[in-house]
Amino acid sequence: MLSWDQSSSIALMQRERAWVEIDLAALSHNVQQILSLMSPQTELMAVVKADAYGHGSVTVAQTVLQAGASWLGVATIPEGIELREAGIEAPILVLGATHTADQIRAIEHWRLQPTLCTPKQALVYSESVRGSVLPVHIKLDTGMSRLGTSWEQAVEFVQLVKGLPNLSIDSIYSHLATAEDLDPTIRKQQQKRYEAAIRACGYDLAGKHPRFHLANSAGTMVDPSLHYDMVRTGLILYGLYPAEHLRSGSHLPPASRLDLRPVMQVKARVTQVKRIQPGTGVSYGHRFVADRDTTIAVVGIGYADGVPRNLSNKMKVLVRGQQAAQIGSITMDQLMLDVSHIPALQEGEVVTLLGQDGNEKILADDWANLLGTISWEILCGFKHRLPRVSVGQPYVAKRAVFDPIKRTLG
Ligand SMILES: *Cc1c(COP(=O)(O)O)cnc(C)c1O
Repeated sequence: MLSWDQSSSIALMQRERAWVEIDLAALSHNVQQILSLMSPQTELMAVVKADAYGHGSVTVAQTVLQAGASWLGVATIPEGIELREAGIEAPILVLGATHTADQIRAIEHWRLQPTLCTPKQALVYSESVRGSVLPVHIKLDTGMSRLGTSWEQAVEFVQLVKGLPNLSIDSIYSHLATAEDLDPTIRKQQQKRYEAAIRACGYDLAGKHPRFHLANSAGTMVDPSLHYDMVRTGLILYGLYPAEHLRSGSHLPPASRLDLRPVMQVKARVTQVKRIQPGTGVSYGHRFVADRDTTIAVVGIGYADGVPRNLSNKMKVLVRGQQAAQIGSITMDQLMLDVSHIPALQEGEVVTLLGQDGNEKILADDWANLLGTISWEILCGFKHRLPRVSVGQPYVAKRAVFDPIKRTLG
């Protein structure tokens, strides 16, 4: 345990070296944007798994719940416990699979809600539940080939769970594999399978029923008929678009276009500035060699903070509103920039790795494109060594908070 003095001095060092800034105003704004696409009867589940995609799950959860989200989605039980320990009372769905008696005890104790993926898992749950009736969420596989029972076996699965003591079906859900693709074929096939399975179970999609939900961020944006009772959004909460054509909105009806603001910025300080001569190599392996007199800045952030080493000699960093090329191998704790075009740069000045500075902007999408990956992976790659610092004022929803009438099966 840290003494008071030590912990407060760590807090003071939040912006000493490198940090992640979380813009709570942008986050609330994004929630408002998403709600504007939805009918008032549809609930918003904020997906805050993986520490809210690297943004810090407790702060994000508190902010999005104030702004009008009513459910939280996590991947694991410890992620749910972290939210409960912070005093968050909203319903929390564990999207991942859970099986063991210890896990079931934790789910009950912390009032988390599990996803049931298989009949076997449902039986274990029914036998293990100790307290009152546990709300559960049935997962159907309609074409993602990840968790869930095949949509073709939905009737048997739902009948089984309905007949088991101690469980009540709160929702039946599925997950889309290709919602951000321009080609809607697979998405429409999944939607057809999902609806067919629900109807085969004897439910009316518009009637009194368990909750139905299918849409992730992209699904929420591309087609309101995917919304049903709830949408589960991750990426767009954090202000990024699931695909470039969804940013421009060129393929969307005007009412579906979203004005999203990136929530995360990554910043670090210059720790030394020096001149090097032509022919001088920079960093491990000398993968950069100066071809002229060059001014370099050493910056206190590296791959142990989550800046991927494969961005070495490729990425740009914003310095005083201008782009500066990163040069040489990115090291564990530090990286170097060519700042020859920036006069009299000082130690201690702040540079922006992701975010906006003046008219220049670098998005997680830019890193993802350089690396051949997706922005989701970039966001959740920032390590805990980087303090998360909140900025901006969140705002509170005008939308009436959803009345959590419990909808269970009769
Ligand atoms: C991660 C996840 C989401 C959110 O996905 P985004 O594309 O980030 O909106 C929704 N549903 C499930 C089941 C997930 O695992």
